[in-house]
Amino acid sequence: MNRVHIKTYGCQMNERDSEAVAAMLRARGYRIVGSEDDCDILLLNTCSVRDAAEQKAIGKAGYASARRRRDPDFVLGILGCMAQNRGADLLERLPDVDLIVGTQKFHRVPEYLDNLRAAREAGVPIGQAIVETGPEEGSQNAIRDHVEGPGRQVCAFVSIQQGCDMNCSFCIVPRTRGDERSRPMDDIVRECEELAGRGVREVTLLGQIVTSYGRGGHPRPGGESPFVRLLERVHEIPGIERIRFTSPHPRGFRRDLAQAYSRLPKLGEHVHLPVQSGSNAVLRAMNRPYSRERYLEIVAMLRAARPAMAFSTDIIVGFPGETDDDFEQTRTLCEEVDYDMAYVFKYSVRTGTPAASMPGQVPDEERERRNQALLEVLRAGSLRRSTALVGTVQEVLVEGPDRTGARLTGRTRANRAVVFDGPAGLAGSLAAVAVSSASVSTLYGSLEPARGGLQSAACAASL
Ligand code: SAM
Repeated sequence: MNRVHIKTYGCQMNERDSEAVAAMLRARGYRIVGSEDDCDILLLNTCSVRDAAEQKAIGKAGYASARRRRDPDFVLGILGCMAQNRGADLLERLPDVDLIVGTQKFHRVPEYLDNLRAAREAGVPIGQAIVETGPEEGSQNAIRDHVEGPGRQVCAFVSIQQGCDMNCSFCIVPRTRGDERSRPMDDIVRECEELAGRGVREVTLLGQIVTSYGRGGHPRPGGESPFVRLLERVHEIPGIERIRFTSPHPRGFRRDLAQAYSRLPKLGEHVHLPVQSGSNAVLRAMNRPYSRERYLEIVAMLRAARPAMAFSTDIIVGFPGETDDDFEQTRTLCEEVDYDMAYVFKYSVRTGTPAASMPGQVPDEERERRNQALLEVLRAGSLRRSTALVGTVQEVLVEGPDRTGARLTGRTRANRAVVFDGPAGLAGSLAAVAVSSASVSTLYGSLEPARGGLQSAACAASL
């Protein structure tokens, strides 16, 4: 009765939290299984950023509740952002849930499950569900352990920070994740060293606002931000070939970070830079402390440091009060930046946020129209940028077999997926791939025989 399946909704941070919970459970003797049909314990790690994400998890929990009623040994838990946001209120709709665990209590999941199992084995009625959503000092340091799978792991996520102090008017995250808290730099570097020792070649540093890492808690020698210092230290780790991070805030892109791109070749030619809107009036209403002009300056500064820099972004359409003209400014900004990729979200009302009670809520049909219009602009831009790479040779970090198992997949320095033929043993190495065709999001090609496998990030400069 110790087989656990964790189903994750939402962002990479949630994926990372689930992985850390899985590693802690394994260390405690639980088995992590890939299918919910084979599990004794189902944990749903949830997202609250948009209402649709919450509704999906609630639907799933309702479905699993039927099994819970049929099988008294089955355990159903809700973890993460929605557990934090709704707490014990969830029990009104989902009275059969056994466990509700908020974002600062992930590391306590093994203990709660042990208690639930022990009580059941002893035949002790448990009564109410376990609901734990309080704050806990130092909880950011608990997202640390990784699950070692059977195959070679080439890329890993590393949590550097939890919480957010930005207070964007649309966003529920400060409520679900709490105040910004950073992990000690030495712990993060040690974790990256351990991952490199296990064969990981790319780390993605994760946080709600990574550019605020260590704010207030670390010295700033020469005015350099703690985040840039962290990048330098991870850059020194032998075996780590690429460093990525998500999400930064445009406010955090000062000169020291732009200069880091000139000095640190392991930072690829890709930045995910959430813009949210191209209209200054909407940015102000969103409480985003930058203008369209400043955002474009940052893009130019980064393209000056790395001419091949590719950008991706997050955009919200249909924010309260967004006019046709505001939307048009977002559209033209997309054309100006020439993004490789963007996540476009229809504004979703989040109860308790300032935007929820703003006048000028945009009707859903109009949000959908703007969503589709923008997706079309972005799709055409992505295809154009992909197609421009046909005929080039790209440095690809090989991750392993593609979805069919017949070919290999990896990513370019600019984070484009590449599919090509090659021996499975190339996983974890840098390969030179000649690009012969392209779709909106994927490049296709073949190994460049003259160059074969590349040695290190330093080679990138010659491509
Ligand atoms: N921390 C990052 C930042 O603010 O720059 C982004 C993290 S957030 C979890 C991911 C994205 O979800 C946001 O960038 C935003 O575009 C989107 N999002 C957040 N709240 C939303 C809402 N109420 N409606 C629609 N999209 C939303």
